[in-house]
Amino acid sequence: SASAILGRQAARESAARTYARSLPIVPVRARGMTVEGADGQRYLDCLAGAGTLALGHNHPVVLEAIRSVLDSEAPLHVLDMATPVKDEFTTALFETLPPAFARNARIQFCGPAGTDAVEAALKLVRLATGRDGLLAFVGGYHGQTAGALAASGDTAVRAALEGGGATVTRLPYPYAYRCPFGVGGPAGARLGTRWTRSLLEDPKGGVDRPAGMLVEVVQGEGGVIAAPDEWLVEQRELTARHGIPLIVDEVQTGVGRTGAFWGVGHSGIEPDVMVVSKAIGGSLPLAAIVYRSELDVWAPGAHAGTFRGNQLAMAAGAATLRFVREQGLSQRAAELGTRMLARLRGMQRELPAVGDVRGRGLMLGVELVDRTGTPDELGAYPAAPELASAVRAEALRRGLIVELGGRYGSVVRLLPPLTMTDEQAEAVLERLAESVAAASR
Ligand code: PMP
Repeated sequence: SASAILGRQAARESAARTYARSLPIVPVRARGMTVEGADGQRYLDCLAGAGTLALGHNHPVVLEAIRSVLDSEAPLHVLDMATPVKDEFTTALFETLPPAFARNARIQFCGPAGTDAVEAALKLVRLATGRDGLLAFVGGYHGQTAGALAASGDTAVRAALEGGGATVTRLPYPYAYRCPFGVGGPAGARLGTRWTRSLLEDPKGGVDRPAGMLVEVVQGEGGVIAAPDEWLVEQRELTARHGIPLIVDEVQTGVGRTGAFWGVGHSGIEPDVMVVSKAIGGSLPLAAIVYRSELDVWAPGAHAGTFRGNQLAMAAGAATLRFVREQGLSQRAAELGTRMLARLRGMQRELPAVGDVRGRGLMLGVELVDRTGTPDELGAYPAAPELASAVRAEALRRGLIVELGGRYGSVVRLLPPLTMTDEQAEAVLERLAESVAAASR
């Protein structure tokens, strides 16, 4: 039974496991946006593999692609050798990239998770620039690894750690609702860029020229904060002016999620390095970096890994990339996301616990606040993490899976499959509104 399984896993698994704790259901069957628990209840999945399932669970084109590899007797593990499946995946991926970028880009498969690809990107820019520091942003999320390379003995691969590993300078991200400068809208975002410029250009700014800047187009785990396009253009200009490679982490924003195939498509900025994972594997683990060929300074063997050529993931991924493109699912995400955001604004007017709603495409966030607290100078009320947890639990009770994020854990995040129907979107909005109302009673 569901409770026996939950109980056994709670006893055996690390206390670090999170989803099993915050979402105590036992999924046994899934199709599209619907997940069925061992208890027989059905859920609408707005977590969807933390943004991995662009086509939802078990989409027929993904299953078909996986089956065709299985039926072909192709080897499943090939390290990073060349295979027809990999060729197909790489071709499909390059067709989705901004054309000017794709013409001069190299790909390095990393694997199997987004974190691995972020590590690869950081190593690459350090080696390519011979510099060490990194510019990153408050609220950014890029993964959880530390130390494997530092512990390794091979001097050649350890060259990427020259200087001791990145000293990170964290910069303000344009979070309009809680702008650290106390200024709303685009003006607040501009102040952030000014701050970065002063660090780089003021001789007494104290920040050595870094090896790279690492940024998300929309912060996901950080609370669904979409950077304004002009702000991204400013970061591109600033980094270009100072010869700093710009690494855009598209792990969560890629494959149509934000309403453009890649998040950079909105502002038109061209990254030096793009980090891709999650949806590119069509629900199986796959990660890569794509970068300007001038940065390809690696000697053979300088970046390795046992699980970089997952044939099933590449087949599932190629099918996903092609389906999203052919079916216009980026445009669908943009259009449906815009309508949902308008409805969420209505919810914000009706429910005092909703402090802010925001997002881009089908990456949406609802920030819950404590209306009994004192608002800041911009009118933002204190965050309400306990209320947010209660909303997540109420939602689960109503057959809706959502996860939280944000600086204070008080943002409900919606990352539904891009294949979500209008009726499903309606049900999500209704259940969410009921859950917020119930939790704040
Ligand atoms: N970058 C971003 C933007 C992410 O959202 C995540 C995961 N949520 C990662 C990197 C890390 O990916 P993974 O969990 O697959 O290691």
